[in-house]
Amino acid sequence: MNNPVLATVQIPTDVASLRSSIAGDVYVPGDEGYDEARLAWNLYVDQHPSVIAMPESAIDVVKAVRFARAEGLRVAPQGTGHGATAVESLEGAMLLKTTRMRRVEIYPASRTARAEAGAEWQDVTIPAAEHGLAALAGSSPDVGVMGYTLGGGMGWLARRYGLAANSVTAVEMVTPDGRLVRADAYNEPDLLWAVRGGGGQVGIVTAIEFTLYPVREAYAGTLFFPLERASEVLHAWRDWTDTVPDEVTSVGRILQFPPIPDLPDFLRGKQFVVVEAAYLGDEFEGAELIRPLRELGPDMDTFAMIPAPALQDLHMDPPQPVPGQGDGTYLTDFTPGAIDALVATAGAGSGSPLLSVEVRHCGGAMATGGGNGAQTNTDARFMLFGVGLTPTEEMAEAVRSHVRVLLDTLAPWRAEYDYYNLREEAAGADEVLPAESYRRLREIKARYDAGEMIVTSHPVRPAR
Ligand SMILES: Cc1cc2nc3c(=O)[nH]c(=O)nc-3n(C[C@H](O)[C@H](O)[C@H](O)COP(=O)(O)OP(=O)(O)OC[C@H]3O[C@@H](n4cnc5c(N)ncnc54)[C@H](O)[C@@H]3O)c2cc1C
Repeated sequence: MNNPVLATVQIPTDVASLRSSIAGDVYVPGDEGYDEARLAWNLYVDQHPSVIAMPESAIDVVKAVRFARAEGLRVAPQGTGHGATAVESLEGAMLLKTTRMRRVEIYPASRTARAEAGAEWQDVTIPAAEHGLAALAGSSPDVGVMGYTLGGGMGWLARRYGLAANSVTAVEMVTPDGRLVRADAYNEPDLLWAVRGGGGQVGIVTAIEFTLYPVREAYAGTLFFPLERASEVLHAWRDWTDTVPDEVTSVGRILQFPPIPDLPDFLRGKQFVVVEAAYLGDEFEGAELIRPLRELGPDMDTFAMIPAPALQDLHMDPPQPVPGQGDGTYLTDFTPGAIDALVATAGAGSGSPLLSVEVRHCGGAMATGGGNGAQTNTDARFMLFGVGLTPTEEMAEAVRSHVRVLLDTLAPWRAEYDYYNLREEAAGADEVLPAESYRRLREIKARYDAGEMIVTSHPVRPAR
């Protein structure tokens, strides 16, 4: 083993028994396929687990967890690796990659879906649409249903139907002691509470069930303005958010596209302030709602009626794995002072290296429709997220430090807790979740995972 990194990775002693007992593949450092299997969607992340298991079924997950227990390994569940930046070190850990468990079932009569642990949102939104139904998917088709939902899940339907976590009706989960259990309204209520927004802290979820909603299409699109108009447009957008119904979810955003060939001409190397919005209603009402922003005179206007699954392209997320660094938080409000601070930090002439600085409008069902879970109603009115591409270490340092400046600058408006999914820097769950949620999660963690076997992005230290 010439690679100095591999030389330091602890390899389990009895890996042959795991290989022979599960249907999926198993890799240890030095194996052909190990380097490909350890890749996360976020290519900046360089993870070096002691063993990688790629289960094909819930039974494989049970066997892998029991093996990890016997070997004294921690276990890091991962679907796509979109959320891999903040995950704790995988030294001495098993990376449990669920990419081969992508089966999805849609139940039109009960308006629910069941997705296996490795399903991506596009695996759900497209078949659900055949029945006139929509899921509370995020902004990107290849984000995993699992990590997104366990960590909250704010998409284009959020102000009307809330966070995805609060639409979870059941999970099947392998607990750290190797039992396959079902948590729903009647069984294991604490586990169900913990997965509704508490991240994957208490076990490996093998399948998740959630409510679908009767949304066939939306009036949605983006207004593009020159970046120099950021202050005017963001002030106008903020005032407008006070006037719209819960059927509108929108984002005010600064975008600086790199001059790379993968992008279409109209975006490549260009800089904009944009408003993206989706209205769950008809074209006439939608156009009336958008009118005040349209009257500002955008350079480009893409608003139109679109089928619900096409919402996945509205946010223009990268369609393939990329290296990136970002971070975000909830804001109590996006006041005129906060807008000016954001424009000074990320607008024209600021020298910002960030690809995107976005502010999402919260409220609506996010504030009132919560229910029983670790991320219930939020009183934060906006959410902030900044991110940049990091193809080199030099760019990574510049992006990291500018994201820090952005969050420090907006600190006066920062809520008392963050948004779990978009907190991409390492942080304990106590720094991210509302204090009351953290306390309860900590008690549940102590009962189900006192040994802290499960590796996550925002760890809970169990109460002792
Ligand atoms: C391009 C992009 C767009 C995004 N858009 C949105 C958005 O619109 N709204 C939003 O809310 N968030 C968004 N996010 C954030 C995203 O929700 C998080 O990164 C989320 O963690 C991704 O889930 P995943 O399953 O794809 O990622 P993974 O990295 O595979 O999983 C993230 C974490 O979830 C937990 N987890 C995953 N699978 C399991 C399991 N089977 N059992 C237990 N725990 C598990 C683990 O702790 C894991 O580290 C976006 C991120 C990116 C990169």
